[in-house]
Amino acid sequence: MNCLMLTAKNHSIPLSDGNRIPIIGLGTYGDPQTTPKGTARECVKLAIDVGYRHFDGALMYYNEHEVGQAIREKITDGTVRREDIFYCGKLWSTFHPPELVRLALERTLKTLQLDYVDLYIIELPMAFKPGDEFFPKDKNGKCIYHETDLCATWEALEACKDAGLTKSLGVSNFNQRQLELILNKSGLKHRPVSNQVECHPYFTQPKLLEFCRQNDIVVVGYSPLGTSRDASWVNLKCPPLLEDEVLVSIGKKYNKSPAQVALRFNIQRGVVVIPKSFNPQRITKNFQIFDFSLTDDEMKLMEGLNKNIRFVELLMWSDHPEYPFHDDY
Ligand code: NAP
Repeated sequence: MNCLMLTAKNHSIPLSDGNRIPIIGLGTYGDPQTTPKGTARECVKLAIDVGYRHFDGALMYYNEHEVGQAIREKITDGTVRREDIFYCGKLWSTFHPPELVRLALERTLKTLQLDYVDLYIIELPMAFKPGDEFFPKDKNGKCIYHETDLCATWEALEACKDAGLTKSLGVSNFNQRQLELILNKSGLKHRPVSNQVECHPYFTQPKLLEFCRQNDIVVVGYSPLGTSRDASWVNLKCPPLLEDEVLVSIGKKYNKSPAQVALRFNIQRGVVVIPKSFNPQRITKNFQIFDFSLTDDEMKLMEGLNKNIRFVELLMWSDHPEYPFHDDY
């Protein structure tokens, strides 16, 4: 796939199951405490007008109903058809037991008021105690884990694809060993088409990218702008990505912002980006990455910015038996 050929109108890349994924999507996670109601809905509608066709959401983001409403409104007003839109939903960690998987996906579909999602992914390779609480805690405030059987969960996902509830299946925050568990599962029916992981110039993921490339797994890069730097879940030891001098100077050359340069870097090497913005100007600008390209030297220079430091470390779950970030870079 030559990503230099992608355009604002035509920017999807193939998945191994025959479906396609737009190489840029709008991330839709905003802090539910501080984001006014209706924001996600307005932003998704604007994004569709701007040209975005891919939306990255989750039941756990508490705004999936707004994202679904926006998509349906833009279908009703004739701007797009359902088949033009790519929606990725996520199976949360309290729904890993096979008997809960379909119920969780059906809950997402009911929330969205859509008949299917385009991609359904296991959000984290770590199961938590099933129940109504998304973050089950013991009396000391510690997360209650649950026995994790990724292959059993995967088989339940396969049944959801067979039932037409999702077009494609993928994972998120999986390391190479966890991907291999699925890929080497006996009787595997549907391969994971994507792995959504942190990916940007300060965390370029060379090894995981190579493994995914060899196995026809598209990498979807989350936090492609270096996150919101919300101290409650972001590792602030990693400096702000968008202030990096190299990004600033390359941006000056092309009359682009550091954010646009960071996004272009990833799409030019085949990594899907899902920048989140709930600001109309930034939503619009972040999509303007198809009218310039980086030279090979600039790509190399940006690869050299890798610091191997994650913004999203998930250290609060680092004693979970399937904590994914001990052994991969
Ligand atoms: P991000 O997209 O790297 O950064 C978002 C932050 O950058 C927001 O504070 C946003 O603020 C700001 N921003 C957006 N455009 C900008 C620009 N042009 N210039 C300067 N600042 C800009 O981080 P993220 O939200 O962590 O990741 C994106 C999406 O990935 C999420 O929304 C979610 O869908 C997904 N995600 C998935 C996982 C997972 O475990 N699978 C984990 C994290 C994230 P404004 O809104 O004010 O513009």
